[in-house]
Amino acid sequence: MHQLDGSCHCGNIRVLYRTAVAPEEARPRACQCTFCRKHNTRAISDPGGTLAITVDDQGALNRYRFGLGAAEFLICRTCGVYVAAFMADPHDDQGYATLMANVLEAQGRYPEAAPTVYDNEDEAGRRARRRQRWTPATLRKH
Ligand SMILES: [Zn+2]
Repeated sequence: MHQLDGSCHCGNIRVLYRTAVAPEEARPRACQCTFCRKHNTRAISDPGGTLAITVDDQGALNRYRFGLGAAEFLICRTCGVYVAAFMADPHDDQGYATLMANVLEAQGRYPEAAPTVYDNEDEAGRRARRRQRWTPATLRKH
């Protein structure tokens, strides 16, 4: 297992990503939705891994939603970094996430992202895909 540390720029949101997939072997995705295009994302996930997201100051965590509202885009209000998309399931602090490779200390080891379009999904299809492909994740206060 690879244990990869990362955080937003100011350190308020920290992540620990455990995955069997070496950064060099990962296939980051550049989601082509209007939000992700503005952030130029490289999203990574591993259904066999785990992602622990820890927040120091909850007030500085923006859980932004748009579109179908089925996922929250976790953004630090202090430094502006987009850290991960999180789908709470079944609890508010537990679910599935896709992580932005750029927040990891090992981000330089990840390949360029392949553009990926998810336009033709309804909410149920989208939730089902995320359960299958995203990383089991927790979102907790430090
Ligand atoms: Zn921050």
